[in-house]
Amino acid sequence: MTIAIMGAMREEIEPILENVGEYQTHEYAGNVFYTCSYAEHNLVIAYSKIGKVFSAITATVMIERFGAQKLLFSGVAGGISDELAIGDLIMATQLCQHDVDITAFGHPDGFIPEGTLMAPTDDEMRSLAGEIAIDMGVELYEGIIATGDQFVASLERKNWIAKTFNADALEMEGASVACVCQNFGIPCFVLRAISDTANGGAVEDFDAFLKTSAQVSARFVLEMVKRIED
Ligand code: SAH
Repeated sequence: MTIAIMGAMREEIEPILENVGEYQTHEYAGNVFYTCSYAEHNLVIAYSKIGKVFSAITATVMIERFGAQKLLFSGVAGGISDELAIGDLIMATQLCQHDVDITAFGHPDGFIPEGTLMAPTDDEMRSLAGEIAIDMGVELYEGIIATGDQFVASLERKNWIAKTFNADALEMEGASVACVCQNFGIPCFVLRAISDTANGGAVEDFDAFLKTSAQVSARFVLEMVKRIED
C-alpha cells in the first residue's frame, strides 16, 4: 500500500526520514517529497510548511500525484485540555477550522456552507493506534483538534476555542489535511504531541519542546505504519 506521512515543519519529518533507510527525493508543486519502501509499504513523506493552505496542497499532491491510499499526519500542537501535558500524545477524533467565521450570515463558527463543521478521521487507524499505545506502554489521548492560521499564545483565544468547539488541542494544519482526505475518500490519521499549552508562555515552550515532542509523535507514527496491513 502507498502511505503518506506528512508534517508541517522540517523538525516533524526529520525523525521519520532518519528511520526509513534510503529514500528518493522529488520536487513538485513548490515542495520536496521523499519516497521509499518501509515495512512492506511504499511511503511518500513530506513537510508542507505551516498553515492550512500549504498543508492542503501537500496532502492533495500526496494523494493525486503519489497515489497515497492512507495519510498519517505527525506533529506538535498546543494543548487545551488540562489532562494534556507537554510531550503527551493526542490523536484527533475529528477536526475543525477555528478561524472560519461566516457568522455574519447566521452560520455557526467554523462552518462553511456545503462543507461539514468537523472533518472526520479514520476509525480503523484510531483503533489500531489504541492497540499500539497499549503495546508501547504510552498514554494516548483522543479528542477534537481545532486548526487555524494562527499561533495561539493567549488564554482568552484558547478558552474561546475550547468552549466553541469542545476542542482538546489546537494547531495549524490538521483540519485542512483531514478535509482534503475527506473529499478524496482517503483514510486520515492525525497525531500530535503537545509542545506548549497555547497560553502566554507558548512561544518559549514551543521553542524548548518542538524537537522532543516531534520525535515522540514520529516514533508512534512509524510504529503505526509497521502495523498497517495491505
Ligand atoms: N517557530 C516557527 C513557527 C511555529 S508555528 C517559526 O518561527 O517558523 C507552530 C507550529 O506548531 C504549527 O505548525 C502548528 O501546527 C503547531 N503548533 C504548536 N503549538 C501551537 C499553538 N500554540 N498554536 C498554533 N499552532 C501550534
